[in-house]
Amino acid sequence: MRRSLVLGNWKMNGTRASAETLAKGIIAGLGDDVAEIGICVPYVYLPEIGQIVKNTRLALGAQNVADKPSGAYTGEISAGMLKEFACHYALVGHSERRTYYGDTDQSVAARFCQAQEQGITPVLCIGETLEQRQQEQTFDVITAQLDAVVELAGIAAFSKSVIAYEPVWAIGTGLTATDEQAQEAHQFIRNYLAAKDQAVAEKIQILYGGSAKPDNAKGLFAMPDIDGGLIGGASLDAESFLKIYHSV
Ligand code: PEP
Repeated sequence: MRRSLVLGNWKMNGTRASAETLAKGIIAGLGDDVAEIGICVPYVYLPEIGQIVKNTRLALGAQNVADKPSGAYTGEISAGMLKEFACHYALVGHSERRTYYGDTDQSVAARFCQAQEQGITPVLCIGETLEQRQQEQTFDVITAQLDAVVELAGIAAFSKSVIAYEPVWAIGTGLTATDEQAQEAHQFIRNYLAAKDQAVAEKIQILYGGSAKPDNAKGLFAMPDIDGGLIGGASLDAESFLKIYHSV
């Protein structure tokens, strides 16, 4: 039986003080251990938030990781560096990275491998744009995004990873995939993996991301192949984030 997971993605928001308040607010409201929970915070807040979440159930994550282990790559942060700050998760291939910073399916696959080499769980973000959905390319896009990682890392590597299905048209737009649209994509992803390795497909947590909010989370999380959420905007408010967490 898969445990659910709710992950917050704070993106480039907040201040040192507000980050600390938010993390403490989430910890204070964790309540019953209904699922796994974590926050992906800006790099510079990792040391401080790492101290706050220490010895709690709230896991720490980064929003990206370099595709190389070390060297002359100005501005990048390696998986080894993240490991030093007790990072449990690292997002890879978030659509904002793919769209604004040129991350490709291949560089995302390399980031995925770098995270795993340091024992960090990569959260592979995949999903189609509105145009791709309208042209009925959703499954082709998802397949290509998954293929790139399978080619580099191998299917077994997925047993130590998380996938986030995030339709790009739903991220930060207020538009949410319907429960059925999301389930259809999640089922497709699980079937893709099952065709290569049934055990991996059954074990992996597949999260939904895209304007998930307290009022729509319950329906999404009730779908059989949706194992929780990657939450952007609503994770910046402790109460909203916790309501989503308690919807699993
Ligand atoms: C995200 O950035 O991963 C995300 C899902 O954002 P939002 O919830 O704001 O749509």
